[in-house]
Amino acid sequence: MKFTKLRLLGFKSFVDATDFQIERGLTGVVGPNGCGKSNLVEAMRWVMGENSYKNMRASGMDDVIFNGSGNRAKRNTAEVGLFLDNSTRNAPAAFNDADEIQVTRRIEREAGSVYRINGREARARDVQLLFADAATGARSPSMVGQGRIGELIQAKPSARRQLLEEAAGISGLHSRRHEAELR
Ligand code: ATP
Ligand code: MG
Repeated sequence: MKFTKLRLLGFKSFVDATDFQIERGLTGVVGPNGCGKSNLVEAMRWVMGENSYKNMRASGMDDVIFNGSGNRAKRNTAEVGLFLDNSTRNAPAAFNDADEIQVTRRIEREAGSVYRINGREARARDVQLLFADAATGARSPSMVGQGRIGELIQAKPSARRQLLEEAAGISGLHSRRHEAELR
């Protein structure tokens, strides 16, 4: 499964509808400080099921909604869409009925957020599971936040080991071993 497009509407600094085509190969995003590069990456994490507003550099989840600037009034909703190419048909069975999968998350002030997969309402868990096996997802070790490298260098060996285990895909073994020891 490949990401083909990211669509933002009212998310953080992206007040107007903005589409980013994601071509094959490596994509770089460049621009001056404060132009929204990190906001883009956060939008990807958010639509894949991030549920911690702290990880979105926010003091509440409503902070991801465009909150006004200069002559633009604040918005009351924000929406992010992530489009996946599923022509190889290797999505989980429940969503594997189309060549393209569209995942959207929409938030309304003081009303929380709603996810949709191909237009049908879905639970956060469904969205998280859709990405869990594809080594992506909101908490995937392949999403490295700004400042995170420095943090890792400073981290205790146990915290660094945890991340390496996640990257190696073996972190599930610990919880299974723990369960086995309890029996
Ligand atoms: P740097 O190069 O410094 O890392 P960047 O390109 O990553 O910068 P971002 O951190 O993505 O920039 O964007 C920060 C900008 O987004 C700030 O100008 C901030 O005011 C704006 N912003 C964040 N949240 C909102 C919001 N809810 N509404 C409007 N603007 C917002
Ligand atoms: Mg940044």
